[in-house]
This record gives sequence, C-alpha cells and structure tokens, in this order.
Amino acid sequence: MRVFPFTAIVGQERMKRALILNAISPQIGGVLIRGERGTAKSTAARALAALLPEIQIVSDCPFNCDPHRPTHLCDRCRARLEAGEELPTTTRKTSFVDLPVSATEDRVVGTLDIERAIKAGERRFEPGVLASANRGLLYVDEVNLLDDHVVDLLLDSAAMGVNVVEREGISFSHPAQFILVGTMNPEEGELRPQLLDRFALCVDIQGILDADSRVEILRRRVVYEGDPEGFYEEWRDAEMMLSQRIAEAQVSLPHVAYSGSDLFVIAELTGEMEVDGHRADIVILKTALAQAAFEGRNSICETDILLAAELALPHRLRRKPFEETQSRMARLEQRLEQARCNVEQAEQRLSAEAEESLVAGKKK
Ligand SMILES: [Zn+2]
Repeated sequence: MRVFPFTAIVGQERMKRALILNAISPQIGGVLIRGERGTAKSTAARALAALLPEIQIVSDCPFNCDPHRPTHLCDRCRARLEAGEELPTTTRKTSFVDLPVSATEDRVVGTLDIERAIKAGERRFEPGVLASANRGLLYVDEVNLLDDHVVDLLLDSAAMGVNVVEREGISFSHPAQFILVGTMNPEEGELRPQLLDRFALCVDIQGILDADSRVEILRRRVVYEGDPEGFYEEWRDAEMMLSQRIAEAQVSLPHVAYSGSDLFVIAELTGEMEVDGHRADIVILKTALAQAAFEGRNSICETDILLAAELALPHRLRRKPFEETQSRMARLEQRLEQARCNVEQAEQRLSAEAEESLVAGKKK
C-alpha cells in the first residue's frame, strides 16, 4: 500500500531536514528522534524511504551491492568479479528495514558457519539485518529499549559503512551503508550518554498544538486513509521534485567546499556552547556540507553551519542544568536568525544592485 507522502507531513521541519540530510549523506551517522507517541516519527521515516530514488544493485546479491562501485563490494561479489564474471544488475526501491526491539547481535550482523568452514573448507555467511539495510533506511523504533551492545554495533556500521564479521580467524565483510533513524520516547527511559553522543543528529519533537495545523493534519490523514492512491497523486509532483533534489545533492556533495574560516566558525561555536569532545565538530561539518549540497551551492556558508549545529547539539549539551541548556539553544537560534537576516540583506542588496545596473544599462 502507498505510504503517507513525506511532503504531505505538516510541520516538524527540523525532523524532515535531519532525515533529508542523512539521505543525502548517510555518513553523517544517523538521526535520533525524541518525542512522545503519535508524533509522525515512523510515518516520516517510512515516507522518506518511499520517496528516495531507485538504486541499481547486483541482482542476486543479498547485500544490495552497487555494481558501479567495485571498491564497495561484498566478499562474494568481489570474488565473482575477480573470477571474470559479469555481475548481473537490476534496479529496486530504497529499502525500509524495521529492526525489532528483540534483535540479537547475530540477527543484526549475520553469522558465519564455522563448522562448515572447518569441515568443508567453505566460507558460508548467513546475512543479517545490516545486509538488507545496505543502501536503504534502517529504522529502530524505541532504540532506548534495545540491547546497548546491539545499538553500539549499529552505530559502528553507520559510521564505518561496512560490516565485518569475524570468528576464529575467518572473516566476511560487506558494505553496510544506511540511513540510520532511531526513535525514542524519553518517558520510557534514557539512552546511555555514550550512545547518545554517537547518534550524529538529534531532533526533539513536540506534538503540534496550533489549531489550524492540527486541522490540516487531520484533514490530510482522513483523505489519505480514504484513498491512499488518490492522495499520493495530489502529492506526486512535490514528491518527485524532492526526490530529484536529493539525488542531485548526492551527486554534488563530494564537490562542496569548505574553508579554513568555516572550520574556525564551527570550533568557535562548539567551544562557546561548551560541547564535550570533538564528535560534534565533525558532525556539524558533514551536515553543513549536505545542507549546502541540498541548497545547490558548492561551498558552505554560516547559515549551513548554524542549521547543522541546531541538529548536532541538542543531545550534546547535557552537562548543565536543563534551563541552561535551553538558553544555550536559544542563543543558537538567535544567531541563526541573525545569519539568515544577513543573507537576506545581502541578497536584497545584490538584487538592488543588479536592478540598478540594469536601469543604468537601459539609460545608456
Ligand atoms: Zn555483493
């Protein structure tokens, strides 16, 4: 059945932005969405996967290997390629993999059949969840209820983009690059601080209280439930446009530049906000690059950095009492507002200048 379209989700702009930027650059390292039940968390994640462009895969590979990236193949595909075989290809939709809370390590990373390896000298690997998640979206509902060790493995893979299983001197590896989306309801227990910090981005969402928006949410939901296909048709253009924009940003991302002074702005910002460790700095840079790519620019600006900080900092400011954390985030908002103002003024100035020169040109 048609899932609810991503572009039809009312509000929750920050959550949508975090999801889009991870889709452009999965190596940002995932997003944690914190909020109460019924706040469109899983709807948004599902909708994002449905919207993403189709991918080309090696048709009979359980790891969804990309036939055009010989450096990112699983051990099986690499061996076939080395043996001179031509890899069969096909296209498929971006997969949405829902990880059950009861998942064990074996279920997640897959298993090596050691007995077979010893007896028959044959390396047999049973793919796990990370195999089907490669180049897709891995959704972990209530990540705070999952075994800490499993969360650790997921975050490792999300950051490294590869899954290596090793047992008794035998190993198997395959690419495991995915958009990691975790959700949690803070009322049902916290995530350990060490794990929290390893989620690249974090969004705290609240239910929408504004009556007009609530009416709009209700109206769209009712129309969607009555006729999912018809509702999708209404949103098809918007969905296609966003999908196209994400695909273009993926292509241009490696060409987006940053300067020494951008790094200085990031360091100054995280220093000023008293952020622990250095993970936030690199996350802000990666996120700002994806943001610039999404905006179709080839270098990052201060607004990109501040927008990125808005997503990278909420879960990294916990050392201080809550009020102080709030006020630090508020200061960040103010700076963002100011930066946007500056950009607007600069744009107005530029267009005014352009107009003037046009007028001057006509006078000549
Ligand atoms: Zn493969």
